[in-house]
Amino acid sequence: MRAPSAQEWSDALTAIGGADDIALLCHVGPDGDALGSMLGLGAALRANGRSVVASFGIADGETFGVPSTYSFLPALDILVEPADFPAEPEVLVTFDTGSLDRLGSLSDRVAAAGTSVVVDHHATNTRYGTVNLVDVDAAATAVLVAEILDRLGLPLTAEVAAPLYTALVTDTGSFKYVATTPSVHELAARLIATGIEHDLISRAIWDTASLAYVRLLGDVCSRTELDPGAAGGLGLVWTTVRPEDLQRHGLTLADVEGVIDVVRTAQEAEVAAVFKGEPETDSVRVSLRSKGAVDLGALCVPLGGGGHRYAAGFTSHGGVEDALDRLRSALATAPHLPT
Ligand code: AMP
Ligand code: MN
Ligand code: MN
Repeated sequence: MRAPSAQEWSDALTAIGGADDIALLCHVGPDGDALGSMLGLGAALRANGRSVVASFGIADGETFGVPSTYSFLPALDILVEPADFPAEPEVLVTFDTGSLDRLGSLSDRVAAAGTSVVVDHHATNTRYGTVNLVDVDAAATAVLVAEILDRLGLPLTAEVAAPLYTALVTDTGSFKYVATTPSVHELAARLIATGIEHDLISRAIWDTASLAYVRLLGDVCSRTELDPGAAGGLGLVWTTVRPEDLQRHGLTLADVEGVIDVVRTAQEAEVAAVFKGEPETDSVRVSLRSKGAVDLGALCVPLGGGGHRYAAGFTSHGGVEDALDRLRSALATAPHLPT
């Protein structure tokens, strides 16, 4: 089942539409879709007179903070630190979060909530809510949020539209990926019609970086390796962002999410990977992209991660070499899909 049923829609709208107090969460290390979907719904509900609180958990060893890329977003004042997030929210909504562990330090709030509504589009979603509004074909979680607003009769103001547009631009890679349907463009048109500065949003997301990042990109991309025999001959390219790279350039893990978008352009390989070593632990975050012939979301589930066919990830705890071995083994037996 790929689209939510009428019953799931009805349950979600009853929970969200009926809540005077509502608590919102998105995944650790939030991206534009996670933050944008959450803040878009949050801003709309607040404008409708509800009491709204939002946050995201932290993974081990991290500190709380909105990635600087998204500091332009309106309605950021809805966010509270994880320590200030309600212990037992009456109604909780999670965004863009395919499994409980992706809520990090706030995972326990789902079981503690009266009602938990999961709004998501990950193919690997584990349906951990009391209500699950999951559409695997949605280009972004924000597409579901826009539909929630429409069905509740809440207006798209610029304050609501800017986060939703941010989410849409992020998850479609600027309207390039396969999930970019005519209705995605129609939604984008409605969002732009509210008067948002869409050019500045796109520039902030795709075309703004520090000089330190540009230099780091040179370092890590120059080390990119190719294994043409990986994935049953489809090929793998990969590089590593080591803790020393981050230290040398004064950057954090949140600053290097875009490295995979450069590595994946190498046409010699079907699959691209970036291994991001966490400072002071053996934890490695692995970002993966495919050109479609390998379903990376399915591949990552047994590795403890998840995602989509074209973009997925997992976290490994035995260092980079071990993570690379695990990835290679999984790729060796992954089915090849028609593209
Ligand atoms: P990223 O490479 O971090 O941009 O992630 C690509 C996709 O994979 C996103 O849809 C993430 O939600 C998903 N993903 C990344 N890391 C993990 C993980 N450790 N567990 C589950 N899903 C992940
Ligand atoms: Mn996300
Ligand atoms: Mn998403």
